Amino acid sequence: MDTSLLREILPVKGQVLEHFGETDWSFFSRQPRAVLFPHSQEEITSVLSLANENNWNCMPAGNGTWLEGCMNTDREVNLIVSMSKMNNILVHEPDNLFVELEAGVTLEQLQVTLRPSKQWLPLDPPGKNSSTMGAIIATSSCGALQTGFGRPRDHVLGATLITGDGKTLKLGGKTVKNVAGFDLLKLLSGSWGRFGVITKLIMRLHPLPEADRTLLFSSNQAHSGTSLAHDIMHTPATLQSISILSPGLREELDSENTGVAVRILESEAAVDQVEALILERTDLLPCKRLNGSESEAFFESLKNTDTDSDVVIRIKCLPSIMKNLIHQIEALQSLVADDSLGGLQFLAHYESGILLVLIDKLKLDDDWLAQSAETLKEFRDTVEQQGGSLTLLFAPEALLKEVTPWGSLDELETLCAGLEKVFDPNQILSRSSAHRSAE
Ligand SMILES: Cc1cc2nc3c(=O)[nH]c(=O)nc-3n(C[C@H](O)[C@H](O)[C@H](O)COP(=O)(O)OP(=O)(O)OC[C@H]3O[C@@H](n4cnc5c(N)ncnc54)[C@H](O)[C@@H]3O)c2cc1C
Repeated sequence: MDTSLLREILPVKGQVLEHFGETDWSFFSRQPRAVLFPHSQEEITSVLSLANENNWNCMPAGNGTWLEGCMNTDREVNLIVSMSKMNNILVHEPDNLFVELEAGVTLEQLQVTLRPSKQWLPLDPPGKNSSTMGAIIATSSCGALQTGFGRPRDHVLGATLITGDGKTLKLGGKTVKNVAGFDLLKLLSGSWGRFGVITKLIMRLHPLPEADRTLLFSSNQAHSGTSLAHDIMHTPATLQSISILSPGLREELDSENTGVAVRILESEAAVDQVEALILERTDLLPCKRLNGSESEAFFESLKNTDTDSDVVIRIKCLPSIMKNLIHQIEALQSLVADDSLGGLQFLAHYESGILLVLIDKLKLDDDWLAQSAETLKEFRDTVEQQGGSLTLLFAPEALLKEVTPWGSLDELETLCAGLEKVFDPNQILSRSSAHRSAE
């Protein structure tokens, strides 16, 4: 691969990175040939044109903290196109509640900029604060706040996408109702960079709440975690998070019982009223009440719960079957190493129907791969039979390959492959060689 051609397109020192540490920009045991840091949309278009001519496989990225997430491992990546140097906040109109930014802006950078205007973007994706906005939309990553505020796609008003074959598409606009006909914008959320590089975003903003309060409940014989969450969900007020935590997941809660954390983000006047409504509903006192920065810190640490896990599974299901599924997680206990400190844990965002299952340390005996794969596939069947779906978000490379991140998508697979071909005819952005050969 002749990188001198790339240096002609990206002439500034540091824009083409070829020699880096073993773990930098690597996914599993592999590294790309080069990481590129374009400074403009024109440079991205030129890079993609060159990649098309030479059949180089490219992966769009932000800061590279989650390159292994949901990765179909049979893909060879020649180039990573990182948006991290395109990190300007372009327009912020507080009166019109929107911000326009380059996709390499981090969520943290954005929140700091918005704070003086008493506004924020209510998203709390798992992982590091250096997550870029382009990646959050591309991976549709979100946490506990999705209960009250929705998923990343609910906050995007507009986006600019450079497709695999170098076309620039401007999708959506600055107002909420801005799409006539088919809303292509929604396709970007969870697209994992398969349709192109997201270069700009227009995001809808919210007023920063005056009060932040978290109520922590501990389950008991009369109230299981899910029945507590169920009662709280029916409180006649908007709650921003209702999360169920397995025993021992957080030290603020006792280690024997399942915990429930409810977050109220409101005006000073309303926060006590909402709490009173919740307590009336549950007929149970919280074991702890966290206010202001303590409440924020609790949820900040909760979003990093999975950072050291060997395996992270995301289950989507109706809240009404969550109780069943939480019991059935026990089937995965055989995968856990005997000396694992964290064991098998879960974190559920009840109202959103999201159940995260975390395996701290895998048992790696002789037959571990075949056994773990079989157990996970059986568990995926169990979830699907109840109308849910199971995504293997993170796992060792060999296990991901056996189980696959999403399982069989059947007809959807064909549809997605067709869409990929429209946006990226030469499949230079394809996330797996399986897709490349699905002619
Ligand atoms: C330890 C850890 C745990 C995490 N756990 C979860 C989890 O459980 N669930 C979850 O959903 N997320 C999880 N994430 C992901 C996280 O929430 C963010 O999505 C991610 O960290 C984004 O940061 P980044 O800029 O480094 O993305 P990168 O790692 O640079 O990119 C991630 C992927 O996003 C796509 N992408 C990035 N930028 C663009 C762009 N501009 N255009 C098109 N595609 C793009 C690419 O497909 C790329 O492979 C985790 C992250 C970390 C570090």
